[in-house]
Amino acid sequence: MQTKQQIERLLAGAGTEPNKRLGQNFLIDLNLMRLLIGAAHIDRRDVVLEIGTGTGSFTEGLAQSGGQVISVEIDRTLFQIATTQLKKYENVRIVNTDILASKSTLCESVVEAVREAIARLGGRMLLVANLPYNVAAPVMMNLIIGGDNGIVADCMCVTVQKEVAERMIASPSTKEYGAISILMAATGHATVMRKLKPSVFWPRPQVDSMMVRFTREAKKIEKIHNLGLFRETVNLFMGHRRKMLQASAKFVTGRLEKIGNWHEIFERAFVDPHSRPEELSADQFVSIANLCYETLQ
Ligand code: SAM
Repeated sequence: MQTKQQIERLLAGAGTEPNKRLGQNFLIDLNLMRLLIGAAHIDRRDVVLEIGTGTGSFTEGLAQSGGQVISVEIDRTLFQIATTQLKKYENVRIVNTDILASKSTLCESVVEAVREAIARLGGRMLLVANLPYNVAAPVMMNLIIGGDNGIVADCMCVTVQKEVAERMIASPSTKEYGAISILMAATGHATVMRKLKPSVFWPRPQVDSMMVRFTREAKKIEKIHNLGLFRETVNLFMGHRRKMLQASAKFVTGRLEKIGNWHEIFERAFVDPHSRPEELSADQFVSIANLCYETLQ
């Protein structure tokens, strides 16, 4: 793991500086790094996905935990620095790519590498990272749902902007409540581990951050008939969060277009069609999505 001075030296040596647009705020508090890595309880058979290798400081801590680390870095110069720094670790693979293939899909070659490693090792899939602010929410949403041939995270231990963390743990009828709050509450449990001051990063970001842990819960997942359709249902209604449910349903697209009688679905889910999507609990969204799934069979 690297101190602020070591990171500064590595960047200067490569003739580069932190790129604000890519969220290059490096974690320089080594105790916080150890806390985040410790929270993931990494086992040798686990596959650890890190988004944003940076200069490889946090990645080294992950490597020493013994898991199989797949770390993704978009910046070519940082990728080269980290590759040199971590060459002695056989359990680390660094991939130089954008983790997002599109706004809402993960890079296929990374997904393939993670899938192959899980099949080989048989352990859990963990996301442990100081996430770049611009991709944090879409990456986590993807790792909850998985989708066709996708991958899901059993546990995510991450640092994110305070605003993202507040959305992850938000309750219905608050302004922070959104699709990510519903997906997380319906599939597991998210908790804030620490509030982080800008001074634990270099350079200091303009905003506060939080360390958050999300754990997937099999008992909750079992209750959802189809995760993809659940995500579509949440997106449909939360896209019009302040309209009444019966009005939001008019904006339906995709597979849900085939649903003829929304009133019957709301009634069977014991949900008032005059209520607003932002007032519904995660369980109520699960009931609506399951009834949609049954109707489409
Ligand atoms: N892991 C290092 C640490 O903890 O100090 C660096 C974390 S820094 C917050 C985020 C890193 O993510 C940067 O190195 C940045 O270049 C990288 N990054 C930003 N957007 C990315 C993307 N779309 N895909 C992959 N890496 C990205």
